[in-house]
Amino acid sequence: TEKRVYNFSAGPSMLPVAVLEKAAKQMLNYENSGMSVMEMSHRSSSYLDIFEKTKGLLKKVMNVPDNYKIVFIQGGATQQFSMVPLNLLKNGKADYAITGAFSKKAAAEAKKYGDIHIVYDGSSNDFKHIPTQDELDLSKDASYLHICANNTIYGTEWKYVPETYGAPIIADMSSNILSKPVDVSKYGMIYAGAQKNMGIAGLGVAIIREDLLQDVAETTPVLLDYKLMIKNDSMYNTPPAYAIYVLGLVLEWIDSLGGLEVMKERNEKKAKLVYDYLDQSTFYKAHSDKENRSLMNVTFTTPNKDLDAKFVKESIEAGMTNLKGHRSVGGIRASIYNAMPYEGVEKLVAFMKEFEQNNQ
Ligand code: PMP
Repeated sequence: TEKRVYNFSAGPSMLPVAVLEKAAKQMLNYENSGMSVMEMSHRSSSYLDIFEKTKGLLKKVMNVPDNYKIVFIQGGATQQFSMVPLNLLKNGKADYAITGAFSKKAAAEAKKYGDIHIVYDGSSNDFKHIPTQDELDLSKDASYLHICANNTIYGTEWKYVPETYGAPIIADMSSNILSKPVDVSKYGMIYAGAQKNMGIAGLGVAIIREDLLQDVAETTPVLLDYKLMIKNDSMYNTPPAYAIYVLGLVLEWIDSLGGLEVMKERNEKKAKLVYDYLDQSTFYKAHSDKENRSLMNVTFTTPNKDLDAKFVKESIEAGMTNLKGHRSVGGIRASIYNAMPYEGVEKLVAFMKEFEQNNQ
């Protein structure tokens, strides 16, 4: 592990070393099955054990109530942008809050299928801000309200669950799922692409309140039908078997450390280290409003674009990667998901300090 770098990628991103080591250990011969998990029939008893264990651990770790179904889907969060309106638009109407690039894409996709009302649009403030309850222009008859719980590109995070006129909340938690406890019962549905806190790319996870499921239009592709996928326990076709196995290893790791309360403490401690440094510095500028800052994606700028580029270049030489901000916002972005150790953040802050001193 000495040669591993601190990888601040927004996703796919770092995995816990313990997970990688276990996967490596089990690579050639999973628990005396004589084969790798990659080589198993998804209907074999060895694989079904993995599958059930993973589902059970997700239910346990996230404290998922019994009236919710967990479904594993090939295709990441973007596929959910289509599945949500295809399955959950009851009267053809839904509310969307636009707080960043992904919620904007989700709303644009939903517009293909229904009458979509935008309850808030943060584009005028560079997506620095998450709307307060009073800033949401909610409809009285929406089938649901869609939010993006953590905005990966801009580095903002919802710190509360909004109240609606009865519409269930559908939350894209791709970049903050498993980072802290959430009260699942406050949501109609939660979904995420797995390649950040849940493991590797190729898997989307959805947790859906059962009563929201309804029949879809006959023209809906089978693999985009939640009801059908759930009826077949995510195995209408071959599921992303290895990605589900890795999710199981990640959940085991979280569970062994004490669950989501512990993740939250660790993540708050890491985020505080960077944000405290940003707040006392006159050199760096944090992007997001203080009260809306993400625990997972820390976004900031140096005094100018040339220094941003120099920061990125020198950080790579110092053993840190992927600190370049998203192409649409520029600056620096440090993604510090569950698997980023505290030492990685300490190293980043020490580098920031040194860079500031050398470039005043
Ligand atoms: N939503 C959020 C919040 C994301 O961060 C991402 C990916 N970075 C997506 C959706 C899109 O996910 P995918 O690439 O899995 O389709």
